[in-house]
Amino acid sequence: WKDNEYIEHLVKELRDNGTNVIVGTFDKLINWGRSNSIWPLTFATSCCGIEFIALGAARYDMARFGWEVARASPRQADFMMVAGTIVHRMAPVVRRLYDQLAEPKYVIACGGCAVSGGPFKNSYHVVKGVGEIIPVDVYVPGCPPRPEAMIYGIMQLSRKIKVEKFFGGVNRQEKINRFLNEHP
Ligand code: SF4
Repeated sequence: WKDNEYIEHLVKELRDNGTNVIVGTFDKLINWGRSNSIWPLTFATSCCGIEFIALGAARYDMARFGWEVARASPRQADFMMVAGTIVHRMAPVVRRLYDQLAEPKYVIACGGCAVSGGPFKNSYHVVKGVGEIIPVDVYVPGCPPRPEAMIYGIMQLSRKIKVEKFFGGVNRQEKINRFLNEHP
């Protein structure tokens, strides 16, 4: 038997005996759960953060997707939603919070300031995008982005998580380590 033939044979046997069978991989099962319950660590420093708050209210209702458990502690969150301007004095704090997130961890840069410095990118004190400090998975442009855009951004993250290999074969961590080494 080749692997697939054996599984097909097994499924057929079980079906013939009147048993309902669903075949899948653990990766898919775990990623299905993870992608539908990603909890944000909110790091809202200015106006974009106000738009993010709207996601939790009835009109946009992010609870529909399982993202509503916004945490104040990085130890309980899956991804960091950086929403707002980051100044140089804040940069070490952003990095420390990122380091405290449990693996696997993700980052969304939300709004022009977090993406590239936004309207303040020519100011001496503003970081030109949070991607200079921590590895970013999804960028959501706009000043501020509408809540719909934020939902779309988190959906993109959810899609990324769905196709990850949870058990081995992940080279994402290598990329992150390389980034962190290059940006001490
Ligand atoms: Fe404010 Fe615009 Fe910066 Fe968002 S991108 S924090 S709305 S200035």
